[in-house]
Amino acid sequence: MAFNFDLFVIGAGSGGVRAARFAAGFGARVAVAESRYLGGTCVNVGCVPKKLLVYGAHVADELEQAAGFGWTLEEGHFDWGTLIANKNREIERLNGIYRNLLVNSGVTLLQGHARLTGANEVEVDGQRYTAEHILIATGGWPQVPDIPGKELAITSNEAFYLKDLPRRVLVVGGGYIAVEFAGIFQGLGADTTLLYRGDLFLRGFDGSVRTHLKEELEKRGLDLQFNADIQRIDKLEDGRLKATLKDGRELVADCVFYATGRRPMLDNLGLENTGVELDARGYIRVDEQYQTTAPSILAIGDVIGRVQLTPVALAEGMAVARRLFKPEQYRPVDYQNIPTAVFSQPPIGTVGLTEEQALEAGHKVQVFESRFRAMKLTLTDIQEKTLMKLVVDAETDKVLGCHMVGPDAGEIIQGLGIALKAGATKQQFDETIGVHPTAAEEFVTMRTVTR
Ligand code: FAD
Ligand code: NDP
Repeated sequence: MAFNFDLFVIGAGSGGVRAARFAAGFGARVAVAESRYLGGTCVNVGCVPKKLLVYGAHVADELEQAAGFGWTLEEGHFDWGTLIANKNREIERLNGIYRNLLVNSGVTLLQGHARLTGANEVEVDGQRYTAEHILIATGGWPQVPDIPGKELAITSNEAFYLKDLPRRVLVVGGGYIAVEFAGIFQGLGADTTLLYRGDLFLRGFDGSVRTHLKEELEKRGLDLQFNADIQRIDKLEDGRLKATLKDGRELVADCVFYATGRRPMLDNLGLENTGVELDARGYIRVDEQYQTTAPSILAIGDVIGRVQLTPVALAEGMAVARRLFKPEQYRPVDYQNIPTAVFSQPPIGTVGLTEEQALEAGHKVQVFESRFRAMKLTLTDIQEKTLMKLVVDAETDKVLGCHMVGPDAGEIIQGLGIALKAGATKQQFDETIGVHPTAAEEFVTMRTVTR
């Protein structure tokens, strides 16, 4: 059968664009359908605008520190509208770059909602296209628990386009997005409370990191309320929102922001017309080569619910393009030791096993931990502490995990990701010459076992 395309990609986000561009580069006839925005979540309502807002909030820190370095500044004034307008302009520029990337690599770009009408057929705006392979890269969508008044709450999607910075915000959740946005709102001047249903936020991160971040956020005046959850939200006459907690307390705020996880985006995708099955959590079920239960259909990125990070979606997109059209270059994605950062204030950087995971996996563990006041703060009154931690296998001396809370943690952890991928030992860390004076050198100078 002659198909219109060799590969039809649904979704021009991180994973879809990468797969489409590389497949086209390998000589395949490729189409991409995108219903909303080029570049997907990361570019439009994720990593990129988030990081720009984090930078914006961080300016407050720099201003606070300035006096210690001899600077006298006039009373600062922050304008949310300017930040959002500038952010929007940058996102539009990136949308254009993504369009050029696709078009210049020979990909046919279709703007519209794509719906599967068969195992080799997709419909976009009433037009049907056939393809030998179809790649589902439709990403995810914020998920808000079904409580009375949930429609009064916002998610990260809306937060990026708020007209004004709310004066008082309740952030619900204890994952990446909740912690990052609590830092953004508070850093920019909103009175911010973070409500998390469990004992301590950032479940799955290293215990020392979670505790350290909690202490640092509290030092900054963020109101952290654990074992707290909202039962209902009501609108007051003055337009503000009243959140009634499960323990009966009532909190009033201008904005209730939910960051309670993301679901796979499968809306009106037409999976029922294919043999594609979902896993127990509702994500698309794929094998180790991203093939769904319908052999002509593949899926990557957030919609398969493995690791919901842009660089992982990119790696999966690349793997699919190579496997289909350049098999001699195919390399499976390595899901071990994925470095990641939480852009909280201060940020977290982490790679490898947490202390808890290492113990659970049966390693005899040595922990090296260091807490110190960064040099930059010594001329200021700020008492923030940086945490660095190495988790080492006592028998093999292999470094199993590196964890940090402190300025530039994301930047620092990237290099340590290479070290862990290369299987570095603690001795090799110790024999590495430090860069002086930096905070990062602490990672190669920790000599005393903490535990
Ligand atoms: P997406 O990027 O979501 O792309 C999917 C695309 O498919 C979308 O453009 C969508 O409109 C389109 N689509 C969906 N259905 C259809 C359809 N039927 N027809 C046509 N098009 C369709 N990750 C990081 O690594 N670092 C970060 O700092 C980071 N920050 C984040 C901050 C926030 C607030 C959020 C929400 C996420 C963040 N992430 C971050 C996660 C990252 O954005 C995702 O992991 C990544 O975007 C997933 O890529 P994807 O290709 O799977 O899907
Ligand atoms: P996460 O899965 O990271 O966190 C969800 C949080 O919401 C958890 O604390 C969870 O609690 C809590 N929660 C879940 N359901 C409920 C509920 N019904 N009621 C109350 N609380 C609830 O999701 P996010 O939305 O923060 O982010 C989605 C993903 O996007 C992240 O996992 C990450 O992969 C990616 N991302 C990456 C970023 C980065 O790289 N810097 C930044 C932002 C997002 P519990 O732990 O108890 O289950």
